[in-house]
Amino acid sequence: MTVDRRFRSVARIGSVWVGSAYDHYGREKHTAACTAPRCGFSVDYDSRAAAELAARTHRCPVR
Ligand SMILES: [Zn+2]
Repeated sequence: MTVDRRFRSVARIGSVWVGSAYDHYGREKHTAACTAPRCGFSVDYDSRAAAELAARTHRCPVR
């Protein structure tokens, strides 16, 4: 995945990036996205804590 430059305070947890950005409505959203090739894990959350939890608990199916 490409880390979009819209994202701020991007952090890497294992193979998963967590980034915060504002959507079209000005609401903050938090995205957890795996960088492993062919994994495709990418989910948006309303809270940073939820996104970081998802990143920590993500078990990559690609190995
Ligand atoms: Zn993964």
